[in-house]
Amino acid sequence: MVRGDAPLRRLIKHMGSHRKTVWLASTCSVVNRLFDLAPPVLIGAAVDVVVRGEGSVISSIGIVDVHHQLWFLAAITFLIWGFESLFQYLYGVLWRNLAQTVQHELRLDVYGHIQNLEMGWFLEQSKGNLMAIMNDDVNQLERFLDEGATDLLHVATTVIVISTLFFIIDWRVALFSIAPIPLILWGSFRFQSRIAPRYADVRLKAGNIGTLLENNLTGITTIKSFTGEDKEFERLRITSEDYCESNRSAIKLSASFVPLIRMAILIGFTATLIFGGELTLNGTIEVGEFSILVFMTQRLLWPLTRLGATFDLYQRAMASTNRVLDLLETEVSMKDGDKTLVDVDGKVNVQSVSFAYPERDSTLEEVNLEIPAGKTVAIVGPTGSGKTTLVRLLLRFYDPNNGSIQIDGIDVREIKLSSLRKSIALVSQRVTLFPESVKENIRYGNLDATDEEIENAASIAEAIEFINTLPNGFDTKIGEGGYKLSGGQRQRLSIARAVLKDAPILILDEATSSVDNETEAALQRSLAQISEGRTTLIIAHRLSTIRNADNIFVLENGKVIESGTHDDLVLKDKMYKRLWDVQTGMQDKK
Ligand code: ADP
Repeated sequence: MVRGDAPLRRLIKHMGSHRKTVWLASTCSVVNRLFDLAPPVLIGAAVDVVVRGEGSVISSIGIVDVHHQLWFLAAITFLIWGFESLFQYLYGVLWRNLAQTVQHELRLDVYGHIQNLEMGWFLEQSKGNLMAIMNDDVNQLERFLDEGATDLLHVATTVIVISTLFFIIDWRVALFSIAPIPLILWGSFRFQSRIAPRYADVRLKAGNIGTLLENNLTGITTIKSFTGEDKEFERLRITSEDYCESNRSAIKLSASFVPLIRMAILIGFTATLIFGGELTLNGTIEVGEFSILVFMTQRLLWPLTRLGATFDLYQRAMASTNRVLDLLETEVSMKDGDKTLVDVDGKVNVQSVSFAYPERDSTLEEVNLEIPAGKTVAIVGPTGSGKTTLVRLLLRFYDPNNGSIQIDGIDVREIKLSSLRKSIALVSQRVTLFPESVKENIRYGNLDATDEEIENAASIAEAIEFINTLPNGFDTKIGEGGYKLSGGQRQRLSIARAVLKDAPILILDEATSSVDNETEAALQRSLAQISEGRTTLIIAHRLSTIRNADNIFVLENGKVIESGTHDDLVLKDKMYKRLWDVQTGMQDKK
């Protein structure tokens, strides 16, 4: 039970702001059930009227005529049904709207929270699993609030009201009819604690499916080019089968619950029938009271069969609650700085920086480099030498283990993350476009930009020409579900964004690596224009791209092994010279 309680307590705490609605909805559910329990009493009263006539219970409130008593009962029945329906409507609306609000808020809270988590955390996560949590798990909770909460309240109300009534009528019959309840409750709690881990496993397996689907849909090009469709289909089949298997194991247990409960109910019902019947025959209780007992036993015990389904829903929801709230409670481990950069010159200093990814060997060792304000500096080196990692440190996606990185002499750890990232425009190899118009995609660089500024940025990025050929020009919808663009065109939009951002520091991380020669030449022209007077850091493996940089640092295995201008480095006859020879040699062959 303790294990089951924890997520509920977490959920209640989280729903603190909805306490009033929860109370109101709960009250409506309970009142509805009170009215719902009235008909057996009315039947008992009707039997009492026809059996005892002017000596009935109703006559004791002053209605002596038997016909009038029947009319009186009919009027009460109308009222009770009316109120029952009214409260059913009220609790339906309240719980369902609450479920909608809670799932909406949870999704936003979780997304808003994880968006602020550090990049390092994201790199460790499976996107598919995060999507499963924000969709499936949040919906699971919605389902419980929609149906489960009311069910639990109804069962509790039924048990309390009917047991009380039974004890009023005859405590001996009451004992018989409620005898199965402790058994049923004990069974339900046992069931609950045994099924909880199975549902946790189901959610885990659902997350695995999300992870796989996300991975495969993103990598469909690779799958197709390697004709890996069959292999991937098989992989999904196994993962999906795994999910079914996990669900089957939960179903096996949950399906056995109702038949077992029915047996317990049967015992209670038979006991009431026989023992209550005997008491009526020997005149201890009235025929009307006996009718109430028999009908009420049905009403008392039958809803308990639903306990299984409700606990089922509850346990599924709690497994999801844990996943959702765990995400929500993930702490931001990167402390934000408090300084705001103003009038940035853009001098960047990397001082004795060493860094290792969590649980990995060292990636950068004692790296020192300086980018004077307004100058262009390049970093070259073999794949895996740590170039992108250095950029991540500069943007403070991670913090170095040793040493420091400074902008205008201020350690980046002291600068507000928002201010730091506003001062840097990053153009990387992978361009993300949003499902919006071309115009809005460029505007991402500066949300306040005017249409004219956007067109100007597109023109500097040499993107105007192709944008004008799109069906609706700047208003053409692109990205997912929209018009598709080539790698070079996407890169031009990303440069336009950077132009619009107009940040004092510009970082190009392999920005021109995967585009054709013509696009590269165009991008080079744009870059020459936008890097002017701006601190620019270029990471490129095509050395022709960085030939004119003011200074070039050569990185190998996380260490700076040489630096200087292109001409210096070519004379040094070390790694840079070797790379240059290979690349110019390749160019010669073309
Ligand atoms: P480059 O940009 O020079 O190709 P990277 O900076 O991307 O090199 O990578 C440097 C090293 O760090 C590589 O060995 C790579 O495997 C490792 N690495 C990169 N990203 C991560 C990460 N998120 N977690 C662990 N190791 C990483």
